[in-house]
Amino acid sequence: MSDIASQLDTVRERIAQAASAAHRPASSVALMAVSKTFPAEAVREAYEHGQTIFGESYLQEALQKLDSLTDIRTATTWHFIGPVQSNKTRPIAERFDWVHSVDRLKIAERLSAQRPEALGPLNICIQVNTSGESTKSGLAADEVRSVAKSIAMLPHLTLRGLMAIPEPADTIEAQRVPHRALRELFEQLRADGHALDTLSMGMSSDLEAAVLEGATIVRIGTAIFGVRDYAAH
Ligand SMILES: *Cc1c(COP(=O)(O)O)cnc(C)c1O
Repeated sequence: MSDIASQLDTVRERIAQAASAAHRPASSVALMAVSKTFPAEAVREAYEHGQTIFGESYLQEALQKLDSLTDIRTATTWHFIGPVQSNKTRPIAERFDWVHSVDRLKIAERLSAQRPEALGPLNICIQVNTSGESTKSGLAADEVRSVAKSIAMLPHLTLRGLMAIPEPADTIEAQRVPHRALRELFEQLRADGHALDTLSMGMSSDLEAAVLEGATIVRIGTAIFGVRDYAAH
């Protein structure tokens, strides 16, 4: 078995264990393979080992990769998870199935306006800043409800849930704190009447904490593909 295949198995097992500890079915946690900085061949290898959900952060790199994966495009779903520049929304609206990193209304309005009708609505998660630091991207928690209300009215988007990238923490207890905050916000939005089903949280080093706090999709890069080489990128 290739490294990618065996590492995928290891991650699937970690998810199953964490789900079991949380008294949740393993099938309630989807696995996104974050393939940023890795080549199309790595994506193909993961696909051949049953992986169908992929995440990318860098637009130009992602578009090139998608161009070389057209044969598996309809069998896979592609999630944009990186910072969205407002002048780069069109290719995201045209080529992706999901965007997890919407952190302001203007971006959502552009994505809705530019989404091709034939593709159906683009799935959206609002990225929330759970650490409360001004340097981190994501919408402040106290702005999420009003932005969610506006996004829910845009015609070519479906608001699915929330996403966060918490500050790294060493213990599972400390890792659970921002994940719990995101889940509470998610529950508040559902109580507001939004039909949300997606809590996008958990990465290679904190997926167990995220699953314990209710993650419905974890975004895993390093644990599947290995350490990223940003210099080469
Ligand atoms: C890179 C990235 C990930 C994957 O992180 P790993 O620690 O490599 O698993 C997850 N989410 C986002 C938004 C990312 O940019």
